[in-house]
Amino acid sequence: MRIGFGYDVHPLVEGRELWLGGVRIEHPFGLMGHSDADVLIHAICDALFGAANLRDIGYNFPDSDDIYKNIDSKFLLRTAMIMVKAAGFQLENIDATIVAEQPKLSPYIPEMKKTLAELMGVPVNDISLKATTTEKLGFTGRNEGIAAYAVTLLKK
Ligand code: MG
Repeated sequence: MRIGFGYDVHPLVEGRELWLGGVRIEHPFGLMGHSDADVLIHAICDALFGAANLRDIGYNFPDSDDIYKNIDSKFLLRTAMIMVKAAGFQLENIDATIVAEQPKLSPYIPEMKKTLAELMGVPVNDISLKATTTEKLGFTGRNEGIAAYAVTLLKK
């Protein structure tokens, strides 16, 4: 058994689509980044890489490489899973938390879980997603950005 941890932040800006957990979220603001800036998928990728000791998302998918510009993060997660499996691991479970003041994410959680489970080829029950606010404190509380944390357990 190997545990992995991932953390990511992206700024919220006007004129971008908001994508979280591979799902398009209705919101007047979206996350800025080199890729589609799906902060939840990025945290999950880093947790997977961490558990398998495969460095991090920036090392494996460098933002200096134009191939990753505006890329769909679902592709990154699928690739991360292939790398983790190639290293001899299978997924036990993922537990992740999205930190956002707005929008309310609870209605989107079941669709995100389903989307991620299909992408990763695992049962929906292996993926736990939570959403929280920081009670208006800090950059997330001021709606300046969204953060995500993820832990994962891999089995050799
Ligand atoms: Mg990121």
